[in-house]
Amino acid sequence: EPSVPRASRQRFVQEFSQCLFDFVIQLLPTTEELAVKEDVRKLLERLIRTIEPDSRLLSFGSTANGFSLRNSDMDLCCLIDSDERLAASDLVTMLGDLLERETKFHVKPLPHARIPIVKLSLDPSPGLPLGIACDIGFENRLALENTRLLYCYAMIDPTRVRTMVLFLKVWCKRRKINSPYKGTLSSYGYVLLVIYFLVHVKNPPVLPNLQQMPPLRPISPEDTHIGSYNTWFFDDIDLLRTRWASANTESVGQLLIDFFKYFARDFLYNTGVASIRAGLIKKESKGWQNDLDPVRYKDSRERNRFCIEDPFEADFNVARCVTKDGLYLLRGEFMRASRILSTRPERAIVAIAQLCE
Ligand code: ATP
Ligand code: MG
Repeated sequence: EPSVPRASRQRFVQEFSQCLFDFVIQLLPTTEELAVKEDVRKLLERLIRTIEPDSRLLSFGSTANGFSLRNSDMDLCCLIDSDERLAASDLVTMLGDLLERETKFHVKPLPHARIPIVKLSLDPSPGLPLGIACDIGFENRLALENTRLLYCYAMIDPTRVRTMVLFLKVWCKRRKINSPYKGTLSSYGYVLLVIYFLVHVKNPPVLPNLQQMPPLRPISPEDTHIGSYNTWFFDDIDLLRTRWASANTESVGQLLIDFFKYFARDFLYNTGVASIRAGLIKKESKGWQNDLDPVRYKDSRERNRFCIEDPFEADFNVARCVTKDGLYLLRGEFMRASRILSTRPERAIVAIAQLCE
């Protein structure tokens, strides 16, 4: 009798959603942790101003986008509001020396990296049982904007969007598929996949496309561009929260089940690019196809196995670090998750434990 399985399935999905909320809530940073991080930011800002008086130190990444787990690292960006500023590499070296002298941080300046940064870490202490890890970069205005974009998406439907993203972040760390240096995907990449899924795959959509909504008033190009990149998006969250009501009422549990199924079976890895701005587009249209002459394009072949378009830097593949082996692992994990959720263990809590084993 089909009605019996359907009823039990509905019960499972409902219980699964509740368990996801409960699971994620205990992984949020404590107010104490947030306060310590804000103190660290202020301290670092004060020190940097002894070198560059007109500078500001701003948070980006998970500490600022609403998708932070307990003990996540701090991403900081230094903006300098003056025309005569030092080169980033010189700043990195000077700041490295200063922090070494004046603070208890372990300091590692990387002045010659593609994006020069200072890496800092603080050993665990009673107030900070896991220490702090922090990167300081310079003038990375695009990262500040994409952080703001993710934050706006998080705020439109905090319960569903944040629960999904935070669960996936835990899941991909536990399953060891969250290391761009080892050929898998960054947290930023996973967040973009969730937003892409909620804006473009789900029908009716759970989220609006903030980059394609009409602006409330005319805007001039110089207000919308950073360099050649268009960074405009609809950011009036108060208005959105009152005006945008999604016709999609599926539970977090159902959305997550469908997310895994979609990336296990349906996403066109060979030809498709996931774009939160434009939906599913073709690799060809971006020159990202990976079947080019294997000798000449050895590098690009490896780079474009999995394609996720950056929301602003449209010529940048956020998943370019994903290798052939990395993609195989990733897809295997999507399939595994999908299988666990379709065989449906007796209890939802057991499913969550298995997913994150
Ligand atoms: P976590 O809690 O795991 O640190 P996170 O949200 O801070 O997650 P990261 O992957 O550390 O995510 O990225 C931090 C920020 O750096 C992103 O919000 C984004 O602005 C920028 N960023 C990271 N990776 C990329 C990338 N591949 N391309 C462009 N920007 C990136
Ligand atoms: Mg981070």
